[in-house]
Amino acid sequence: MAPSEIAIEPVSGAVTPNAPSTRPSSDVEDTTSNGGGSANGDKSKKRKRRKGSRRSKAAATNEGDEEAAALAAAAKRPKIDLNDKTKSLVPIEGRNPSRRRCGALRKMCGAVRTILECIGEDANRPGLLDSPARYAKALLFLTKGYQQTPREIMNNAIWDDEGHNHHGMVIVRDIEVFSLCEHHLVPFTGKMHIGYIPTTRVVGLSKLARIAEVYARRLQIQERLTKEVANAIMDVLKPQGVAVVMEAKHFCMVMRGVEKTSATTITSSVLGCFERSTKTRNEFLSLLRLEKSI
Ligand SMILES: [Zn+2]
Repeated sequence: MAPSEIAIEPVSGAVTPNAPSTRPSSDVEDTTSNGGGSANGDKSKKRKRRKGSRRSKAAATNEGDEEAAALAAAAKRPKIDLNDKTKSLVPIEGRNPSRRRCGALRKMCGAVRTILECIGEDANRPGLLDSPARYAKALLFLTKGYQQTPREIMNNAIWDDEGHNHHGMVIVRDIEVFSLCEHHLVPFTGKMHIGYIPTTRVVGLSKLARIAEVYARRLQIQERLTKEVANAIMDVLKPQGVAVVMEAKHFCMVMRGVEKTSATTITSSVLGCFERSTKTRNEFLSLLRLEKSI
């Protein structure tokens, strides 16, 4: 096992980040962007960041100004491209999606046959003949999130409800999540709890679970998955705040490595009012019946 792998794996029981906020880092952009953003888009993003930063500095002179704090937080948070389709399948096969899929499947079948041979199996024995194709199709399904974007998932289910002033918390808890650890390509599974406090925009509740799915169906680490879901909801809905907590069991810890079958990992990402207000954060956690430990 490489040293870098040891560093990211919890070694005992539940691991909870000490800081209330797991701030987004550049890896958010790395995984959701193929680096192909237009020059104009980049410039306008930079202009927006500079503008946000100037505005927040000016407003911060008024003590206790929550809006200033929110602007400062938004300026610090890297923007993720919500329209991005992260990866194309085997670009050499052209732009036709079905041809790309066929090309990807063909390449993957060859690769899986090679893996079977390398572990000492006979790839031609009857029981394994169709396994490369089955595995390739399964892997494409398990990583289908690369072909989806949070904006297209949520677009038809966002309502402006300006007549009402929403201050109540909306929570969807126990969303089942199945993802693949990017270090070992083995599953990690668990539950995600998503809460937000709307401003004027509300979203269909099932869409919160769909957002979790978009990011879970990619190669992931749990820390980034939690952050990406929170950031996507923050950027599309622009609510007062978002909180995401995830508890998961990692099969790279259960079936190999330290082989701790009962160890679970907890990660959290809180933005906006959940980050600023301990009371709001604790209300969320008490509604989840989790310990007030983040
Ligand atoms: Zn792993």
